[in-house]
Amino acid sequence: MSAFFQNIVLGGGAAGFFTALNCRKANPGANLLLLEKSAALLAKVRVSGGGRCNVTHACFDPRLLVQNYPRGGRELIGPFTRFQPKDTIQWFEERGVPLKTEADGRMFPKTDSSSSIIDCLQREADKLKVEIRTRQKIAKIEKSPHFVITLATGETIGTQHLCLATGSTPDGHALAKSFGHTIQEPVPSLFTFNIPESPLKDLAGIAVEPVSLSIEGTNLAQQGPLLITHWGFSGPAALKLSAWDARLLHSQQYQVTLIVDWLPSLKKEQLMVTLRSLRQESQILVNLNPFNLPKNLWRRFIQLSGIDESMRPSSISNDAYAGLCQRLKSDRYTVNGKTTYKEEFVTCGGVTLSEVDFKTMESRTCKGLYFAGEILDIDAVTGGFNFQNAWTTGWLAGNAMASGSD
Ligand SMILES: Cc1cc2nc3c(=O)[nH]c(=O)nc-3n(C[C@H](O)[C@H](O)[C@H](O)COP(=O)(O)OP(=O)(O)OC[C@H]3O[C@@H](n4cnc5c(N)ncnc54)[C@H](O)[C@@H]3O)c2cc1C
Repeated sequence: MSAFFQNIVLGGGAAGFFTALNCRKANPGANLLLLEKSAALLAKVRVSGGGRCNVTHACFDPRLLVQNYPRGGRELIGPFTRFQPKDTIQWFEERGVPLKTEADGRMFPKTDSSSSIIDCLQREADKLKVEIRTRQKIAKIEKSPHFVITLATGETIGTQHLCLATGSTPDGHALAKSFGHTIQEPVPSLFTFNIPESPLKDLAGIAVEPVSLSIEGTNLAQQGPLLITHWGFSGPAALKLSAWDARLLHSQQYQVTLIVDWLPSLKKEQLMVTLRSLRQESQILVNLNPFNLPKNLWRRFIQLSGIDESMRPSSISNDAYAGLCQRLKSDRYTVNGKTTYKEEFVTCGGVTLSEVDFKTMESRTCKGLYFAGEILDIDAVTGGFNFQNAWTTGWLAGNAMASGSD
């Protein structure tokens, strides 16, 4: 064996880096090696948040925070009481990177540049003398009783603790399996919906807030702004639905019917009362817009309900009003496929959570093996929650590895 380390971290993404930094900080006497298979460290951090890096979210109550995780929420309650967005903010601010909060709670570096986060993590790695090697291809890893990593070059490196922070890559999953773990099938999460026959496509750019969006035949609806696009629907309501129903959508091969409630705060009966009360008005229905919907969308709903645009409310039949109500409360759209949202995506699936101790992030099936980040069956809606998972699980794993290092 050419070298032995107390701690080795596999994967130089957000989770692997944070694990390595916290491990070295907690136990500077224990040597540590970070192995990254590609040429670039922190590649996803660089492109994240459209190049601005949505580092975390301004939500400081663990019980509320976990509601943003379709998978992993229950397991993360404990970890978030130990390292949560407040700690992330403090960690970066103490190292010269102040964060700012946008109106919807998303937090970014004040510089609006992901380079600030990358530079900060790399400065810290230099300061703590973290040994990093890129372009490292793993041939195999065995345990006897320590881990022995064989690189593609034939070089062997031993370690007492090994952290897998390899994101959603199949080779990371294969390594976890080789140590007795089961993998929840990886499927995409966080995407937008293709609706080729949408009668709203020419209204692309219009956003309606809030709507309630669900899949026909299911009970779980997501509320939030919905963006009409050239290809279908996007915006927070669509992304949330894609995350919460990721498995169902995958099993239906992204061929489902979406139900949109364009006015979730009003009951159907209230809509009918409002529409009937317009009968005293002398203006045409198109100009009245009683629910303050974007004007062109309101016009489109009237057209799609078979009502002549030039009609006054008094000459519109009860049946026509009922049709309009139906469209406003349960509008149906046939989805055929999905599209990535601004290149951002996460994977639903990964290492089964019951096989991991969330106090330490250590494997329950293989002593000395740890996990951090997206390799786990944890994913969140968009908004900085996925990085928070990487920071929190990395912090836990790093500290636990440090305290157990002989
Ligand atoms: C375009 C885009 C934008 C995003 N924007 C945001 C955002 O703004 N906010 C947010 O919260 N989330 C965002 N996400 C999600 C977020 O980037 C991920 O959840 C996060 O990067 C996961 O971190 P990780 O370290 O677990 O995995 P990764 O970042 O995927 O890192 C894993 C690393 O392990 C390496 N690796 C894999 N296999 C091996 C191996 N066998 N040996 C050695 N190394 C290996 C990989 O090369 C990679 O460097 C975005 C995702 C994308 C794709």
